[in-house]
Amino acid sequence: MDQISFDQITAPTPDTDSAEAAYAAFHAQWDAAQTATERLAAIHRWDEYCREFSTWQALTDLRFNQDTTNDEYKRARDYSDEIDPKLTELAVDMKRTLLNHSPRGELEAEFGTQVFALWEADLLSFEPVIERDLVQEKKLEAEYIELTASAELEFQGGTHNLEGIRKFREDPDRNVRYESSKVTWDWFSAKREALDDIYDQQVRLRTAMARKLDCKDFVELGYHRMHRVDYDRGDVARYRAAVREQVVPLAIELRQQQADRLGVDTLYSWDEGIHDPDGNPAPQGDHDWMLGQAQEMFDSMGGGLGNFFRLMVSGNLMDLKNRQGKAGGGFCTSFSSYGLPYVFANFNGTKGDVEVFTHEIGHAFQGYQSRNQRLSDYLWPTYESCEIHSMSLEFLTWPYMELFFGEGAERFRQVHLTQSLLFLPYGVAVDHFQHMVYEAPNATSDERFGMWQEVERMYLPWRKFGDLEHLQRGGQWQLQRHIYLHPFYYIDYTLAQTCALQFWLRAEQDVDEAMEAYVSLCARGGEAPFQELARGAGLISPFDDGCLAAVVEEARKRL
Ligand code: ZN
Repeated sequence: MDQISFDQITAPTPDTDSAEAAYAAFHAQWDAAQTATERLAAIHRWDEYCREFSTWQALTDLRFNQDTTNDEYKRARDYSDEIDPKLTELAVDMKRTLLNHSPRGELEAEFGTQVFALWEADLLSFEPVIERDLVQEKKLEAEYIELTASAELEFQGGTHNLEGIRKFREDPDRNVRYESSKVTWDWFSAKREALDDIYDQQVRLRTAMARKLDCKDFVELGYHRMHRVDYDRGDVARYRAAVREQVVPLAIELRQQQADRLGVDTLYSWDEGIHDPDGNPAPQGDHDWMLGQAQEMFDSMGGGLGNFFRLMVSGNLMDLKNRQGKAGGGFCTSFSSYGLPYVFANFNGTKGDVEVFTHEIGHAFQGYQSRNQRLSDYLWPTYESCEIHSMSLEFLTWPYMELFFGEGAERFRQVHLTQSLLFLPYGVAVDHFQHMVYEAPNATSDERFGMWQEVERMYLPWRKFGDLEHLQRGGQWQLQRHIYLHPFYYIDYTLAQTCALQFWLRAEQDVDEAMEAYVSLCARGGEAPFQELARGAGLISPFDDGCLAAVVEEARKRL
C-alpha cells in the first residue's frame, strides 16, 4: 500500500439521521445472522463504522487543538460535541444487544472476555437521560481549553502562552524563574473566578450524571468511564498509601539533594524545575535536528521503531512546534480507519521536548503495532496501560540520549530518573484531590483550595511558595489540565510509571529482553485488562505488595 500522508486522511461527517440508519442496518444484520460466521461479519461491519467515526472525531479534535482561534475548526468541534452523545447512545444500544443476546461463549472464543467487561462499563456509564449533560460537559471542557490557551503573558519583552512560558522554569537565573512563575500565577489569580466557575459547574454536572445513573458518586461513574475493570478505589487508595510511605521519604531526600546542588537554603516552587545550577541538560539543536537524531536512535533500537518513525515523518503525522493559539499539552491521537497515529506537542527547547517526544512516540508506536487488532475496542488499552508504552519508551531510549544531549546525557538520565520518582507523589496527590472533590461535590471554591492544600501536606510536604499567592492559597491544581478535562485520568501515570521503572531495571540488565517484552506488549493493544497486560509482560502489578519497594531501592542506589 502506498504511504498515506496526513493531508489525505478524511472521514465522512456523520449526522444523526445517517447514524440512525446505519445502526438500524447493523441491528438488522445481527438479528438475521444465523451462523457464527454471519454473526462475526455483522460485528465487523459495525466495527468498521466505529473506526470511521473515530477517525472523523480525532481529525476534528486535532484541528481545533492545532488552532483554537479558527472559527471553522471551532464550529466543527462544537458540532462533534453536539452529536457525540447521540452516537454514544447508538453504540451503547448495540453493545447492549450484543451483551444480552449473543452466544457469549462463541464470541469469547473469538475476542476473549475483555471486550464484554468494557461494554458492561459503557452500559453503566451511559443512559439517554444524561445526553444533554454530556453536551454541556464538553462545552465546559472547551471553555477551559480556550481560556487557558488565550493567556498572553508579557515577560522579558515577549508575549508567551502558558506553554511557552514554561521554559523559564528551568532558567539558571533564579530571578527569571521567580518572575516567570509570578507572571503565570498572577494570571491564574486574575482568572480564578472563571476557573472556579468552570470547575464548579463540572463537578455539579458530573455528580448529577452519576446520580441519574444510580452511581453513589462521580468517583464510581468516573471509574466506569475509565474502564477500570480489574481494580477499584480501594486498590487505588492502598497504592496511594504505599507511595506516601515508600516514595515520599525518598522524594524529600531528593529535594534536599536538589537544594544542595543548586546552592539554595530554601527550595521554592520556582526552583523545583531545575536540577543543576547551570541549567538542566537541554537538547543541542532545534526541531528539525531533533527529528534527524530521533531517526538515528529509532533505527538503532530495532523492534520496528525505525521504520515506524520514518512513516510518521514522511506521512507528516506530527505537529511538535509551539505557536500562539495552539492548545497546550502533548498527546497522541489516531485515525483508526487508516491504522495511523498522530503526535501533537509543544516544543520549547528544553529537555522536556525529548521526554514528551519519546513519550508520545511510545503511544503512537503502540497504536500502530496494534492497528490490526480484531476490534476497535482493542486498538488502545485502558489509560494506565497506555501510559506503560509511553513512559517505558522514555526509559528504553536512555542509551541513546547522547544523540540529543551530548555530554549532558548522563546528567539527563539522572534528572529524568529523579523526576520520574518525584512525579509519583504529585500524581497521587492529583488523584487524591479528585476523590475528595467528588466525594464532597457541594464544597465551596475555598474548601476545594483547602483540599488541595491538604493533599500537598500529605504528599508534597517540601513545597514552599514564597509570596506566590495563588499557590499559597492552594490553587496549583488549576493548571493541571486533566482535573478539568479528564477526571480521574491521572493515577494512571503513576501506575504506569511504576511499571516503566521496572522496564528501566530490566533494560539495565538485558536491553534486548526488555525491548522484546515491550514490543510484544504494544502489539497486544487493549485485548486484556491492566494487571493482566502488566503481568503478561513480566511486570509486577502496582497493586501487589512490594512492587514499589524494589524500584525505590534500586533508584536510591543509583541516585
Ligand atoms: Zn501519555
